[in-house]
Amino acid sequence: MKVAVVGGGIVGVSNALALQKAGHQVTLIDRRTPGRETSYGNAGVLSESSIGVLNSPGLLKSLPKLLLGKSNSVRFSPTFVLKRLGWMLSFLSYCTKRRWRAAGYALRALQVISLDQHKAWIAEAGVDSLLRYGGWMKVFRRGESYEAYKAELELADEVGTEYSIFDREQIRQIEPGLKPIYEKAVLYDNTCGVSNPAALTDAYVRLFTEAGGTVLQASVAGLSRDAGAWHVAFADREDIDADGVVIAAGPWSSEIAGWLGYDLPLAWERGYHMHLEPGEGPQLNRAVHDVDGGFAIVPMQQGVRITTGVEIAARDAPPNYSQVTRSVELARDGHEMKGEIDETPWMGRRPTMVDSLPVIGPAPRHDGLWFNFGHQHIGLSMGPGSGLAIAAMIAGETPPIDMAPFRPTRFSI
Ligand SMILES: Cc1cc2nc3c(=O)[nH]c(=O)nc-3n(C[C@H](O)[C@H](O)[C@H](O)COP(=O)(O)OP(=O)(O)OC[C@H]3O[C@@H](n4cnc5c(N)ncnc54)[C@H](O)[C@@H]3O)c2cc1C
Repeated sequence: MKVAVVGGGIVGVSNALALQKAGHQVTLIDRRTPGRETSYGNAGVLSESSIGVLNSPGLLKSLPKLLLGKSNSVRFSPTFVLKRLGWMLSFLSYCTKRRWRAAGYALRALQVISLDQHKAWIAEAGVDSLLRYGGWMKVFRRGESYEAYKAELELADEVGTEYSIFDREQIRQIEPGLKPIYEKAVLYDNTCGVSNPAALTDAYVRLFTEAGGTVLQASVAGLSRDAGAWHVAFADREDIDADGVVIAAGPWSSEIAGWLGYDLPLAWERGYHMHLEPGEGPQLNRAVHDVDGGFAIVPMQQGVRITTGVEIAARDAPPNYSQVTRSVELARDGHEMKGEIDETPWMGRRPTMVDSLPVIGPAPRHDGLWFNFGHQHIGLSMGPGSGLAIAAMIAGETPPIDMAPFRPTRFSI
């Protein structure tokens, strides 16, 4: 088949590669260089352990603190929250233990097949130097925060994620670059990372084009279908035809699906990063998530990357740098770094469905149309598995894992 993949973030690129390997003739379309939006500036964690979605029973308990603006992990624009109140209340309605556990099982399965595929593609692309083993570490400044986190460790035990727990002295031994302010750490031993997420996407795009795939830099302005063919329209170049279309445009996907009459409950968890020059002391060996501080510190090729938690705001509202500024201040408590490298912080938009699970599968009212978006905090991790699943579904084969939790028709669309 001739397949057009709309969106060249890590999800679209992985999907294009998986479809090409399944024998299709694929055109990957992005209005920018692929991998330069949300997939550019993340923390580079290739996770097999990110099973606790944000809409958890714990979120309800911390809601008063969040609403009072006392958390650096979650910030929000009151105007946006009021405008999307229905979505917000629906998001909170998923904060039950049953739904939270079910999401954990589903996400774990997708992450495990994705990490295997990442490792295979990284080797094939010859970019092993980007891949970092050694896990992903969550550190806790306060004993109470670690106690609250134990619910997620119970779920990790259930789904079979391996981890190790360290106390203050052990943390010093395995991460000597951290200052002794942390009471406890949880190391997810099998999680990996990359030292430059954009370079990873570039490497996958190279694999794709070298095998004959086409990358089209153009902004998709319309999708239509007649006599069995799809037409992809652009504002400033002629249409292209395809037998199938995959919408994988991350935070813009619901808008594009909306052109065909689908109303998908997607919102944006915006996030920022800033690079700092490494300090003179020991460098970190892996990505470290400071749970109480609400940020991650990650050694990257560009410098030490500080990534923020969540900002709930309109997708296209101007950036608000207060969260990243605070994150950098707090990060200096935990790790020695020199001056800021970037002139302005980077901002991205995590695409999040109301139940925190991506939408991966066929569109119900259009033959040959497929959805693959909404990967929230873990799209870099889950891109390859999502692509493999779509490729299997298009071939009429059974996907490698149960895709029922991700089916688009779980929503009335
Ligand atoms: C601060 C931060 C830290 C994160 N850390 C991690 C992490 O460590 N590990 C992890 O797994 N995930 C992480 N994430 C999440 C991850 O980055 C996202 O889930 C992922 O990048 C989403 O990829 P995507 O391909 O769906 O979207 P995007 O990367 O946003 O790609 C969508 C693409 O669609 C294109 N597009 C949109 N509209 C059109 C159109 N009309 N025509 C043509 N092209 C169009 C855009 O140009 C864009 O390139 C983090 C996110 C943030 C913000």
